Amino acid sequence: MRISVFNSLRSRYALIAAIVTVAAFLIAILSNIYLQDSRKKTTENISVRNQLLEHSRLIRDAVWNTRQSLATFLLEPHNNQTQQQIDHFLRNAKNETSRLLEHPWISDNRQEDNLKNLQNTLMNLEDSVNELIKARLDATQQYPALAIARETMLPNYSQFNIAASLAINEHYEVDDSEQNNYALTTLLQARHIWTQMISNFRMYLANRLGSFDENALPVQEKDILTQYEGLQQEINILKKLDDDGALDLQASASVEELFTASTSWYEMFLEVKRIHASDKWRTDAILIQTKIEPHMNSIWRALITLDKDIELSTIEDLSVLSRLAQTLARELWVFAALCLSLIIIGYLALEKGVLAPIATIAGALKKESEGIHEAELPERGVRETQDLVSAFITMRKQVQARQTDLEYHALHDSLTNLGNRNRLIEHMELAIKQAVRNQGAFSLLMLDLNQFKEVNDTLGHPVGDQLLIEVGMRLAGLLRESDTIARLGGDEFALLLPTANDSHAIQVAEKIAEALDKPFLLEGQQLFTNASIGIATYPQHGLNPSSLIQHADIAMYLAKKGTTGWAVYDSEQDRHSVGRLGLMGELRNAVAKNELSLHFQPKSNLMNDEIYGVEALLRWNHPEHGFIQPEELVALAEQTGFIYELSAWVIENAISQGKEWNKKGIVLNIAVNLSAQNLQDERIVTHVRELLVKTGFPPKQLTLEITENAMMAEPERAVVFLGHLSAMGIQLAVDDFGTGFSSLGYLKKLPVNELKIDKSFVIDMSTNDNDAVIVRSTIDLAHNLGLKVVAEGVEDSSTLELLKILRCDTAQGYRISKPLPAKECFKWLREQMSHLKLVNGSDSRTAS
Ligand code: C2E
Ligand code: CA
Ligand code: CA
Repeated sequence: MRISVFNSLRSRYALIAAIVTVAAFLIAILSNIYLQDSRKKTTENISVRNQLLEHSRLIRDAVWNTRQSLATFLLEPHNNQTQQQIDHFLRNAKNETSRLLEHPWISDNRQEDNLKNLQNTLMNLEDSVNELIKARLDATQQYPALAIARETMLPNYSQFNIAASLAINEHYEVDDSEQNNYALTTLLQARHIWTQMISNFRMYLANRLGSFDENALPVQEKDILTQYEGLQQEINILKKLDDDGALDLQASASVEELFTASTSWYEMFLEVKRIHASDKWRTDAILIQTKIEPHMNSIWRALITLDKDIELSTIEDLSVLSRLAQTLARELWVFAALCLSLIIIGYLALEKGVLAPIATIAGALKKESEGIHEAELPERGVRETQDLVSAFITMRKQVQARQTDLEYHALHDSLTNLGNRNRLIEHMELAIKQAVRNQGAFSLLMLDLNQFKEVNDTLGHPVGDQLLIEVGMRLAGLLRESDTIARLGGDEFALLLPTANDSHAIQVAEKIAEALDKPFLLEGQQLFTNASIGIATYPQHGLNPSSLIQHADIAMYLAKKGTTGWAVYDSEQDRHSVGRLGLMGELRNAVAKNELSLHFQPKSNLMNDEIYGVEALLRWNHPEHGFIQPEELVALAEQTGFIYELSAWVIENAISQGKEWNKKGIVLNIAVNLSAQNLQDERIVTHVRELLVKTGFPPKQLTLEITENAMMAEPERAVVFLGHLSAMGIQLAVDDFGTGFSSLGYLKKLPVNELKIDKSFVIDMSTNDNDAVIVRSTIDLAHNLGLKVVAEGVEDSSTLELLKILRCDTAQGYRISKPLPAKECFKWLREQMSHLKLVNGSDSRTAS
């Protein structure tokens, strides 16, 4: 069940469409989910990052503010508010750091170490800041030189002063000797220099610590050095005096003290000077340099690291987004590839399931039209192509059945199912070949029922038909399998005995007469009938089917006059033949004597009831014999080798008549009959070509009619012959169609335009169903081959109407007009033109 559902192209298409749609929707939904997810994540990440950056900013601000406040503090150490601010900012920084440390992002991104480091640094910073504050608030701590001054230099100062005072006082008390005076003066001088140096040093210190005039510092230092050297000179003088013993005991001790104190002081001064020259002259600067700045730097670094990592997570977000874009792009590619493969698969499926089978079916159709029925058909394919195949097979069967039917009808009599004239001729030809081969003989019996007309008239057609069937059956019962029995029309039968000579044929004829003597029981009545049988034997009575048929016919008429019921053909008794022998000579003169003439029979277009052409028919009004049948005339001409001249005469006259009418404004197609023998003679082609050139008559306006039998006698030759004519633009018609046994295959090969259904089928078609069937299938067949159809022998209105229904193209017959002499025909045509349409009157059935 499932298999059959997906066998149909429509369902396959629906399936593929469903797959594509589902795939498209799935991809769209998945992409959407993925996008939403990424957008949410990215938004969250951005907000987290903003929080983190805010924390980092707050820490940075707090540290920065600490630094600013610290700078302010260093300028104004005693402003308590500044200290508080420092305290506040540092606390802020620590708090923010703690908060940041608690943020899950930190642990997720392995930032704890960095932050803990930051925290520690902040604590260290706080310690250093406190240390700095303390140092800044204590001058001795703040200035190391000051400590030296206080702790070492001040005692030296006192020591010096005391020693000097003691020595000086002692010298005041001693005598006023020159030596003593000199010593006193030197002492005083030394104390003076010292005092000046000390005050100079104080100035220097004040200048350095207060930063009053830094340019003065070297000058001051130099002054101190100079003063120190001066002092040492004095002390050296005193030392010399002491060595000379000029100094008292006290003074002597003081000189030693003075020297020690001053040198020690100077050493300290040199230390102070060194400190002042270095950048360690104040503690706060050292602290800032060695502790606070490094801490700050490490804090900045930690914050920078943090910021960088936060930034890195932004980049990660971006890479997630770009990955997303890549994924989407990949999905699109996959989808495109899926679509492409579906298109390819679809095309392959279409090719395999539809296009290839259709091409095969088209090929089969083409072959079918050429008559080849074995063309291969696709075995598999979608349901639609399978339907097509089965429709094709049905059509093929129907066409074949129709064709078989048609072929059967072409060779059989539809009433009795016996063979018809075609079949008889066909078998006669075979018999001739066989007889030639075996140097044998065969006989043809022509049989005509006597009084059949009376049966028909008194008991009606159905009984008449029934009688014909029964007679057929009785005849068939008498014959051998190799014999052929045919009904030629009406009450006329023919029997072909393929190996019988005339005496054997006579025996058969007698048997037939005997068999028909017994009454027929029809519709409860006994019917008596008998037959007249004419016998013609090959080769003595004729060498071809038509002469044999003709002679058997003649014998049959003789039999009617005799008493035995049968007669063998006897040329002596054939008045016809005798008469004709004389006529042969006369025919040649008839042309010259202008005894021959043409009659014209109009052809009516059934679509619009307009006359579009005429058929030229030969007439010979013999001064003695009167009207001579054209068939006889033609047969005579054929036998005497005069047929080319006769046909040439007809064509010439028909064309000149057509030309004359053209001039008078009546443009008609002129149809001329050609005999079978004309087909063997190339001269006629040349003659027609020359005539057309000479007269300028349009080839399209000329139709040549050739009987089916003539065409089929030598089909290959006919193809070439007709090909030449057709190439000139001349129209060609198959005449008396249905009386021969055309091979449909050949008919297709011939360049003919028109098919004329023989009048024997048309005359009775409105009352005889079998005829109607033949006419109908002939019309269909002709149309299938692209030929126009002319029905000849249209004698009544009902036939005309029936032909219209059957879509016959053209009608010719007494109902429209009998063949008329040229002048009368012209008059008639002019009348028609004024009516335009045919007048629907009573049937104009008249014998010719
Ligand atoms: P065909 O070519 O089949 O010509 C048609 C015949 O049917 C003509 O007989 C015509 O008079 C006759 N006919 C026309 N309408 C009716 C109708 O409604 N009922 C009946 N019963 N007959 C009708 P026609 O003129 O006696 O000619 C007989 C045959 O002689 C022609 O048959 C044709 O085969 C041959 N024939 C006539 N003229 C020529 C010709 O110029 N050259 C050749 N080669 N053959 C000719
Ligand atoms: Ca004809
Ligand atoms: Ca005909």
